[in-house]
Amino acid sequence: MAKIFCVANQKGGVGKTTTTVNLSAGLAKVGQRVLMIDLDPQGNATMGSGVDKRQLELTIYDVLLESASIAEARVRSEKCGYDVLGANRELAGAEVEMVSLERREKRLKLALAEVERNYDFVLIDCPPSLSMLTLNGLCCAHGVIVPMQCEYFALEGLTDLVNTIKQVHANLNKDLQIIGLLRVMFDPRITLQQQVSEQLKEHFGDKVFNTVIPRNVRLAEAPSYGLPGVVFDPSSKGAQSFVAFAEEMVERIKNM
Ligand code: ADP
Ligand code: MG
Repeated sequence: MAKIFCVANQKGGVGKTTTTVNLSAGLAKVGQRVLMIDLDPQGNATMGSGVDKRQLELTIYDVLLESASIAEARVRSEKCGYDVLGANRELAGAEVEMVSLERREKRLKLALAEVERNYDFVLIDCPPSLSMLTLNGLCCAHGVIVPMQCEYFALEGLTDLVNTIKQVHANLNKDLQIIGLLRVMFDPRITLQQQVSEQLKEHFGDKVFNTVIPRNVRLAEAPSYGLPGVVFDPSSKGAQSFVAFAEEMVERIKNM
């Protein structure tokens, strides 16, 4: 059975999508079967996996509204080596349309039950909000990966997310836990980043992943080629760090 992880942080621009597509590609590279789900109406993870969101006939939207199964809506990204359940702007309407549905926070969980045995990992790229879409992700996940930049307000911003995860854990999904905090866009030359990084380790202990993702221009360039950095330039520092992170994740799930 697949282990299911949300990549979540209610802040925008913190590296969720970069983490989701590069971890997916890194896991594929080390032989794992991966389904990447884009839960953000912006569709950046879809485009960043070489799938044109404008050309998709079926997306996560159809799955949430039960007009398609995941098996019908997923597409294979041959270049990246993983399956993609894509998203586009249509998804922005799903929240309102789901209001009248029963158990609407569990739609994705039900849909995943049919395909999870086909994968080792399911990774879900969440939108920058704690909305019904994110809630659908949290309800089906075993864990949350939280990418964060080591900046001054980093810890403060975590409080809301940690509280939401606690509530979901208590009321909707008792499997849910923070699997780990991932330090991203890290620049070791900046003293403040080192200080925040130390604070994080003091506060969260082994919940902080060992792997650190450096700030790396190749990771930022890759999306304009419709590829994760891991595929676009495998020899770059950014790509290598994401492959190391994939290996760390494979180790972590052995104890889950
Ligand atoms: P989110 O999904 O949280 O909004 P993104 O993954 O889209 O964040 O990242 C925001 C911006 O930062 C993007 O332009 C992305 O290319 C860039 N970026 C993310 N991680 C890195 C990194 N490690 N090094 C350099 N640029 C990065
Ligand atoms: Mg994003």
